[in-house]
Amino acid sequence: MIRVIVIAGWGRSGSTILANVLGSAPGVVTLGEINNIWDRGFGSDLLCSCGEPFSACQMWRPIAERAFGADRTAVAERARETSARLGNTWLIRRRLPFLGKRQANHGDDYAAMLTALYQAAADHTGSRLLVDASKSPWHAAVAASLQGFDVSVLHLIRDPRGVAFSLRKKVDYQAGGQITMDRHGATASSLAWVYRNRLVESVWKNDLAYLQVRYEDFVADPEDQVARILDHTGLADVAVPFAGPNEIKISPSHNISGNPVRFQNGLTTLRADDKWRDALPQSTQKLVRLITWPHMRHFGYRG
Ligand SMILES: [Zn+2]
Repeated sequence: MIRVIVIAGWGRSGSTILANVLGSAPGVVTLGEINNIWDRGFGSDLLCSCGEPFSACQMWRPIAERAFGADRTAVAERARETSARLGNTWLIRRRLPFLGKRQANHGDDYAAMLTALYQAAADHTGSRLLVDASKSPWHAAVAASLQGFDVSVLHLIRDPRGVAFSLRKKVDYQAGGQITMDRHGATASSLAWVYRNRLVESVWKNDLAYLQVRYEDFVADPEDQVARILDHTGLADVAVPFAGPNEIKISPSHNISGNPVRFQNGLTTLRADDKWRDALPQSTQKLVRLITWPHMRHFGYRG
């Protein structure tokens, strides 16, 4: 049976680098954010991390054709239609017993598309393990329900202050380098952090397929955390190409969307990105703590 790891959680939590580390192991391939591939790949033909547009990528072109034929626009349109009634609200409603069955069925069309794509990716690459870095809880729920795949849900969590800081950097960049802190950004990020992480945990916490990984633990001891993840998926024999305790040879990847770090490959040193400790204003750190406490503490973060 084809094994799949689907990463669930909130953004800016290190999912791209974690997926690329896993994807550097023989027999493992990272597919990037599959929830975004319909629109950004099939629809808009954006640049893959290999440097080619989606339609010319040596990995995605054959996978796309094997799964769906040559008409990429039709796939993007079909994905838009099939996912229209999904989303995280759907995921919550699906769990209400009096609405359950009909709500669950809404995911069937999307599940069929995901099955075709995963199957084609496994067939084309010959991989034993696919890594889907989508992060979206509803997408992870559809993935976890697929027949014929052994799907693990990897819940990736990062300190909410690091996430807020990382989001701020993007805001600064887009605004042309202004350094005024966007408190709305920190508020929205922190509320979403609580919502996403609590949702993922509440859906899967009693599920054997569920594994919680903190970004900080991963960068502190990548070998140990990667071994834990692979062991959880039943692939403890996979050899990840670590050159040193925090150094790894990253294979070229084929990610259509995600952090720009996806374009990096070769020998890479993994370090904790904790610039936020000095660079995020104390008042903003306090605000994030205020919003995310006690959830922050629940996930093992101290203020
Ligand atoms: Zn590519």
